[in-house]
Amino acid sequence: MRTLVHICCGPCATETVAHWREAGHDVTGFFFNPNIHPFMEYRRRLTGAEELATSAEFELRLDETYDPARWFAQVRPQEPDRCRRCIGARMERAAREAAAADCDAFTTSLAISPWQDHAAIAEEGLKAAQTVGVAFLYEDLRPRYRASREAAKQLGLYRQKYCGCVLSEWERYRHKDRLRP
Ligand code: SF4
Repeated sequence: MRTLVHICCGPCATETVAHWREAGHDVTGFFFNPNIHPFMEYRRRLTGAEELATSAEFELRLDETYDPARWFAQVRPQEPDRCRRCIGARMERAAREAAAADCDAFTTSLAISPWQDHAAIAEEGLKAAQTVGVAFLYEDLRPRYRASREAAKQLGLYRQKYCGCVLSEWERYRHKDRLRP
């Protein structure tokens, strides 16, 4: 089966790609994450995904559309369900890329993270799959999260400290004790 793996960052993709390959899938990666702020942080994570694709030898497709104003309008981060919309927008774009790449299915490296809303991943992925007409694969990969951090360290990949948007950075560092180096 040809499977497109939406990649949120290099570290999360290490064990995600390994998992789907071990399950017999022919993996193509896809990076589309306009939710990452600021722009240079986005560039660091994109570079990490490219470095992993080179070392693990898989094709990485890119959509480098980066428009923070559009993202804020689409996701409406002032509302409590912003993460669901943020995930949903990326799942729909990944589904369309999977169809364009003649893949049988798509999935996402978000499913390895203990910090993500897994109900939203599973539901928004399924919704995108039904809209586009390509299968969505969800598996709870959180048991492999620790190994993914270790793999990223070994490969020297950039490891971020917050989810992506400016709100998540504030949530990570708002307490003064976390501002200390
Ligand atoms: S915290 Fe993460 S998933 Fe939620 S809106 Fe921000 S970037 Fe998207």
